[in-house]
Amino acid sequence: MGGRALEALRRPAGRDPGFAHLETRRHIPFITDLDGPEAATLGPVLARATRVLREAAGAELTYVYVFGERTPHLHFNLAPHRDGDGLRGGPGLLYPNVPDTDLAVHRAVADVAARALADASTRQSQATPSGPS
Ligand SMILES: [Zn+2]
Repeated sequence: MGGRALEALRRPAGRDPGFAHLETRRHIPFITDLDGPEAATLGPVLARATRVLREAAGAELTYVYVFGERTPHLHFNLAPHRDGDGLRGGPGLLYPNVPDTDLAVHRAVADVAARALADASTRQSQATPSGPS
């Protein structure tokens, strides 16, 4: 990520001034495939790009969306948001009137994810030598 990060700004169109894509130069299909230097630099690059867009557009904040269904090349949709514009955050992404999922399903997914993260954390700490003590 870097030089091409804000390419969409050079092709302004649509309803949202400042809307841009931050994309990886190397082909990475989905965020679940993110690794290597792109994974290592994502945080600072994403923070900088969203901050620049927020300030350039005079926005209150910058929404970040990642989907992957239509374009299997990792990109972040960056959308500066101002109160009263056409963008809707969080709940706006959901179809209305869809019933909540059963609490047991939520718990089961959270438990599986927590175990996987704990296992990954354990493997990482075993692979990383500790500093001087
Ligand atoms: Zn690609």
